[in-house]
Amino acid sequence: AHGTVVVGAGHGGVETAVELRGRGYDRPILLIGDDPHEPYQRPPLSKELKADEPPLLPLRTTSMLKDLDIEVWLGTRVGRLDRAARTVHTDDGRTRGYDHAVIATGARSRPLPIPGIELDGVHYLRDYDDARAIARRLPGCRDAVVIGAGFIGLEFAALAASVGVRVTVIEAGARAMGRAVSAPTSAHFAALHRAQGTELVFDVTVERIVDEGGRRAVVLADGRVARGALVLVGVGVVPNDEVAGDAGLPVENGVLVDDGLRTVDERIWAVGDCARYPSPYAPGTVRLESVQNATGQAATVAAAICGHREPYRDVPWFWSVQGPAKLQIAGLRHAESTAVVRPESRAGRLAVYCFRGEQLCAIETVNSAAEHLAARTAIERRIPITPADVVAEGFVLRDAVR
Ligand code: FAD
Repeated sequence: AHGTVVVGAGHGGVETAVELRGRGYDRPILLIGDDPHEPYQRPPLSKELKADEPPLLPLRTTSMLKDLDIEVWLGTRVGRLDRAARTVHTDDGRTRGYDHAVIATGARSRPLPIPGIELDGVHYLRDYDDARAIARRLPGCRDAVVIGAGFIGLEFAALAASVGVRVTVIEAGARAMGRAVSAPTSAHFAALHRAQGTELVFDVTVERIVDEGGRRAVVLADGRVARGALVLVGVGVVPNDEVAGDAGLPVENGVLVDDGLRTVDERIWAVGDCARYPSPYAPGTVRLESVQNATGQAATVAAAICGHREPYRDVPWFWSVQGPAKLQIAGLRHAESTAVVRPESRAGRLAVYCFRGEQLCAIETVNSAAEHLAARTAIERRIPITPADVVAEGFVLRDAVR
C-alpha cells in the first residue's frame, strides 16, 4: 500500500495531506519537507517580526498531523522522483513508493546577482531562518535599505519604520508593487510609506553592495548610494520546479498542470507557488503566489485523488498588511487593464476596480473588508459591473451582488 507522497510541507503540501484525511482517504500519506521547522505560516514572517525571535505559527502542529496518521519527514529534501518506478528519493537516501505524488515545493527568493550580495547583513526573506536572522539584527538597527518595492520589501519597510528604523526602498520599476497592483493602489501605498518617513527611490537599479566598516552601502546605477545597517532583498521568487523538470514533466517557470492541477503524468499533481495552470480568471496560464491559491488548489487535488476530479475554479484573492493599511485583492488584474477608483470619502480607505475591456477582472481595496468579500462574489459570478457604475453616486458593491 503506497498511498500519497506530498513533496513540500508548506501551505499547499500540509493542506493537501490534511484535506485528504478530511475526505476519508485511508491510504498512507507521507509529507516530506526540507525545512527543518514544524510546518509554519509564512505571512507573519514579514508582518510580525519585531522581537528577537519571529513568530512561528504552525500550519498544523506535529501532533495534529500525527493524530491524522500523516507521516512527516522534516529537514528532508526530495532529490529525485522516478516516474517509471513510482518512487521518490530523498537526499538522505530514503525511498518511498507512491500511487499519487503531489508536488508542493513552492518557490525560493530570486537571487540578485550583484557584487556584495553575499555580505553579512544582506538578507532575503522567504523562510523562518531568514526571518530569524533579520529579527536578530533589528534591535539597535537605525537604518535599512530595501531592494525591491514588492509586497515583502514593503511589508518589511513598514514594520521597520514602525520601530524607528530609517528605511530607503530602491525599486527598478516606476512604482510600488507595479507587477501586482494598479497605479492608484501603488500611489496610495507610496504615500503611506513616505508618511512613515521611508524614502522611496524608483526607476533605478542596484549595481553593487559594499561594506563600509560594518555598514552596508548600496551603490545605485546612477551613482547614488543608500546606506544601512541591514539590507533586505525582495526581488521576487523563482518556482522550485526542478524535481518535476528532472522527472521529465513539462515545466515553464512552474510545473505545468491542467485545469484540474494534474501534470501530464496522471499520478502526479502540482499545487501552490510552483504550479502553472489555466485559470478561468485570466487568459493563458498563471502561476500565483498566495496562501489562498495554495490551500484552494490543495483541496481540489485532494478531492481528485479521492476520485472527485473537478476543474480548479476558486476566485484568486490575496492580502498584504503595510503599517495601518490592509490591502486585499480579489481576482486577477492584467497589465493592460484600466483602473477605476471608486469615490471614497473615508480617510485611509481605497477601492480600485480593474477592467479588462468591459469585464471586471480585479478589485483592490484598502481597509474595506466587506467590500473585498463582495468583490470575490462579484468576480466569481461575473456580475456585470461597468466603470460608470463604480463612479455613480451611492454605488455599493454589496448591493450589486445580492
Ligand atoms: P511554500 O509554503 O513555500 O512551501 C513549499 C515547501 O516545500 C517549502 O518549505 C520548501 O522548502 C519545500 N521544498 C521545496 N523543494 C523541496 C524538495 N525538493 N524536497 C522537500 N521539500 C521541498 N501570501 C498571501 O496570500 N498573503 C500574504 O500576506 C503573504 N505574505 C507572505 C510573506 C512572506 C514573508 C512570504 C515568504 C510569503 C508570503 N505569502 C503571502 C505567500 C505565501 O506564503 C505563499 O504563496 C505560500 O507559502 C505558497 O505555498 P506553497 O505550499 O506553494 O509553498
